[in-house]
Amino acid sequence: MKELQKHIIVGITGGIGSGKTTISKYFEGFGIPVYYADLEAKALMNRSKVIKRKLIALFGDDAYINNTLNRDYLRSQIFKEKKLLSKMNAIVHPKVGAHFKRWVKKQNAPYILKEVAIIFENNLQSQYDYIITVIADNEERVKRVMQRDNSSRDSVKAIIRNQFSDQEKIKKSDFVIENNDLEAAKLQAQIIHNNLISNI
Ligand code: ATP
Repeated sequence: MKELQKHIIVGITGGIGSGKTTISKYFEGFGIPVYYADLEAKALMNRSKVIKRKLIALFGDDAYINNTLNRDYLRSQIFKEKKLLSKMNAIVHPKVGAHFKRWVKKQNAPYILKEVAIIFENNLQSQYDYIITVIADNEERVKRVMQRDNSSRDSVKAIIRNQFSDQEKIKKSDFVIENNDLEAAKLQAQIIHNNLISNI
């Protein structure tokens, strides 16, 4: 009997501004399909009627403006009542999980990469065959995010404080990419890719 194809799932994670998305693009360049979990979650929150109905039930009609998710409103409500975050995740995560499963089945590659901001914080490491953590100096990350999002130093630092430290993530990872210099990081990505395809 023909065995069911088992997809090798590699998670790529890292703190805010570490460069997960930038590095994931390099893997795409090596021919690896990448699922951008946070982007897909945002898209599903706008597209899925079920999510929309449930989020309106949770947050009220202001959750959407002209059929588009009102992210600022949700953020402000969650800031006021922290429990709303886990309730929102309980609505959104299963849908993203199901979407990811369908996406994986359509891929034909030696492995697939899933870019996710939070793996260890939610103890989800068992969902992955391998995990790559992208790290960079904190001060560098703060500068990048301030420039990219026009956000304040304090707000970026507050997010960094809420995430696991690089040291904690490194301990639990199979591979680490240090992304202070882009060229050096690309080379590390290439080495990991070669390593993965020769081990699979
Ligand atoms: P987030 O968790 O906030 O989504 P991320 O980890 O996916 O962030 P990126 O979006 O890839 O990080 O990078 C953050 C910003 O820093 C981007 O504007 C990106 O172009 C820039 N950047 C990434 N790596 C480097 C680097 N090595 N040198 C300089 N700038 C970089």
